[in-house]
Amino acid sequence: MPNSSDTCKIGETTQKSGAYECLICKYAGNVTEIQVEKGKILPMCATCKDQDTTWHFKRAS
Ligand SMILES: [Zn+2]
Repeated sequence: MPNSSDTCKIGETTQKSGAYECLICKYAGNVTEIQVEKGKILPMCATCKDQDTTWHFKRAS
């Protein structure tokens, strides 16, 4: 499992600005990344539209 400090669920507030990757898309073989600023609420993934996905923090912007 990824380090829990680097993952966020939908609806959680981000702790860091940067690129977040949808893990449900990742497991399906797709790459879906979004840019989110610190303090923003993580949205639903527009690609898989899963209501319960986890966003993995990939890199700081
Ligand atoms: Zn997704």
